Amino acid sequence: MPELDSHTYDLIFAGGGAAALSLAVQIVQSPLPYRRILIIDPDPKERNDRTWCFWSTAPVFCESTVSHRWNRLAFVSDGVNLHLDTHPYDYRVIRSIDFYRHTLEILKASGRVSFLRASVESIADSDPTSDMATVIAGGIAHRAHWVFDSRWVAVAYRGANPRRHYLQQHFLGWTIRTPNDQFTPDRATLFDLRVPQEGVFRFVYTLPFSTREAMVEYTLFSADLLPPQQYREALETYLQDQLGISEYEILDEESCVIPMTDEEFPRAAGRRIMRIGTLGGRVKASTGYAFLRIQQDSAAIVRSMIERGTPFHNRLPPRRYKTFDAMLLQILFRRGERGKEVFTALFTRNPIGRIFRFLDEVGTVRENLLLMASVPWFLFIRAWFAIRFSKRV
Ligand SMILES: Cc1cc2nc3c(=O)[nH]c(=O)nc-3n(C[C@H](O)[C@H](O)[C@H](O)COP(=O)(O)OP(=O)(O)OC[C@H]3O[C@@H](n4cnc5c(N)ncnc54)[C@H](O)[C@@H]3O)c2cc1C
Repeated sequence: MPELDSHTYDLIFAGGGAAALSLAVQIVQSPLPYRRILIIDPDPKERNDRTWCFWSTAPVFCESTVSHRWNRLAFVSDGVNLHLDTHPYDYRVIRSIDFYRHTLEILKASGRVSFLRASVESIADSDPTSDMATVIAGGIAHRAHWVFDSRWVAVAYRGANPRRHYLQQHFLGWTIRTPNDQFTPDRATLFDLRVPQEGVFRFVYTLPFSTREAMVEYTLFSADLLPPQQYREALETYLQDQLGISEYEILDEESCVIPMTDEEFPRAAGRRIMRIGTLGGRVKASTGYAFLRIQQDSAAIVRSMIERGTPFHNRLPPRRYKTFDAMLLQILFRRGERGKEVFTALFTRNPIGRIFRFLDEVGTVRENLLLMASVPWFLFIRAWFAIRFSKRV
């Protein structure tokens, strides 16, 4: 490898959030020889800015940062109160601040990673013949053999393709403390659909950390966001009417927008530039979950670099999962009020493991068909025709 000057690196990460930190750690812990790595992000990652949940049967590479886990999940709707045993999966939560501290510590201790607190202005292959890409940040050009771009700002994402769906997962979550015992700490509520739907799929999600402390999130899957006051009012009403909680202290607040879209997010932005994380299409279109997918993607990229010398040789999941996602988005986009019926059928008629495997895009065709047969299939057939022939509208 040629001698590197002060602005030349083996790898540059544009954006230093979940995807960049996950991949950077997996690279420094691998046999890959990269010694000069630069992570550029204006955010120092010193705040707990989000809470990640995911299910898994196996430990993840940042397992020590898991703060809670549940083996029982509740699904609640009108007249339905399911307690689901998730074995062999458990549902885990990671506070982002723990993840940032843990990964930054590993990266700093490796002695291979520098950090630049700046905004990346542009990224391009250096020239058609070179094996470098150039990143402009803070008015300075930095060059690297590979650039991983994960720049993402969480605002409502709307692409321009009229044949695609652009929904958002948007929510307000409060971590609350109550003066009396109110929560069942060994059971998280994945969906409580007993909130007015008003034409849009809405639910409340509760992570109980103790009998008196829980994160309660009012969540919508829809095209448009609400005025801020409406999320607060909905949470207050839910706590009062459904949980009978009127006295509580708000310890923390989390709100956000996650893209739910069947738009393609190309992985390559140049010969030497790979998009990762949300920007690289790692958010599951029909659920908004991305954290475990990002870990798996990081492992696949490292494998590809070791075996092929390029990050781009990754196996794609079967194409049918994109169609399933698009059908659900079409239903939620056109008939949000039917979301409650679809999710209730899904959870009452399938073992939770089958649902997790479906969402992880690893279920067998037979399992997928059983699952599709359990939901109001005419809605999905209609959605399929709409996607196939007229798409979104
Ligand atoms: C509040 C919240 C809760 C979530 N909860 C879950 C969950 O429970 N489970 C789950 O699976 N997924 C969840 N997600 C979705 C997903 O896992 C996260 O969004 C995850 O952080 C995505 O990782 P990322 O690296 O793509 O984006 P981020 O972690 O957002 O990183 C993007 C980085 O790019 C930086 N950046 C932006 N512009 C520039 C620029 N011009 N130059 C340099 N840097 C730039 C930003 O500062 C940021 O650090 C959640 C998302 C949010 C926002």
